[in-house]
Amino acid sequence: MLIVMDPSAAEEDVVKVEEAIAALGLESHRIPGGLRTAVAIIGNVDPIPKEVFEGLPRVAEIIAVTRPYKLVSREAKTADTVVEVKGEQIGGSRFGFIAGPCAVENREQMMKTAEGVKAAGATFLRGGAVKPRTSPYTFQGLGEEGYRLLAEAGAEYGLITVSEVVDAETAAMARDHIDIVQVGSRNMQSFSLLKIVGGMKQPVLLKRAASATLKEFLMAAEYVLAAGNPNVILCERGIRTFSDFQRNTFDVSVIPEIKKRCHLPIIGDPSHAAGKRAMIKPLARAALAAGADGIMVEMHFNPRQALSDGCQSLYPQELKDLFDELKRLAPFFDKKVD
Ligand code: PEP
Ligand code: MN
Repeated sequence: MLIVMDPSAAEEDVVKVEEAIAALGLESHRIPGGLRTAVAIIGNVDPIPKEVFEGLPRVAEIIAVTRPYKLVSREAKTADTVVEVKGEQIGGSRFGFIAGPCAVENREQMMKTAEGVKAAGATFLRGGAVKPRTSPYTFQGLGEEGYRLLAEAGAEYGLITVSEVVDAETAAMARDHIDIVQVGSRNMQSFSLLKIVGGMKQPVLLKRAASATLKEFLMAAEYVLAAGNPNVILCERGIRTFSDFQRNTFDVSVIPEIKKRCHLPIIGDPSHAAGKRAMIKPLARAALAAGADGIMVEMHFNPRQALSDGCQSLYPQELKDLFDELKRLAPFFDKKVD
């Protein structure tokens, strides 16, 4: 249930609502809005009697939230959430460009890549310092050194950094170095990790698990918001289907459906969906056309030598061509890029 306050409501009016919720033995979560504050009641299993709130001062509306996800739902907040980091935005009318290598490999690679990412017109630099790989015998990432190198390259080229964390230890490493923390598809339902990033000040880039339903995806985001972090960027990165000519199937249709049900921004990651360089461009176009708020693409200046995901990494010039094209197309889909 959502208790929407009148625009004239004062702090004490909101507190009265929160006290009434506490008196029922339930938890409340305040959602400040541009005009009106709403208070969500979370954790209830049984329906809550409306009458408890009807008589309270400056309560404008009482909305029964029918979905299991509440804080992320459009019912809780009709306006799009715009995630802002260091003056750059993703969400609303802004389309974000994120690019970089799959993994941070060494200083030279990171510096060269950051230069190419900047030249391609991206504002966000990605790079994995910990790589949750299918095989334990493949490159696992540089760990703390990786976060440091990514931060150094980001600072050098004025790019906002994005990097995955997998547990409390890596979250602590990223805390002071990285601007946006990523929860990877394999950890989308690591509920303890979702609570950890929910307690961080950085925005969270949450990737959809390869087999997650839309509801499971949104419930994972709900964990982060319920833990106190409202800045979540969702990411569609392909799901597992019977289609066997690609790594994963890019679920382009989830983008408009998420936009309908949820106020958080959603970006597309065609690299992990396709697993093949040649498919990145058409899938990136599809993401923009479907209403995505941004794109995340892997790039390597020498993909043959890449320590992970070389086959799907674009060359620097290909990245630039792709981003140039998306920037030309974005206004046709009501997105601003500059
Ligand atoms: C990544 O973005 O580095 C990554 C590992 O992707 P995913 O979690 O989607 O497989
Ligand atoms: Mn990768």
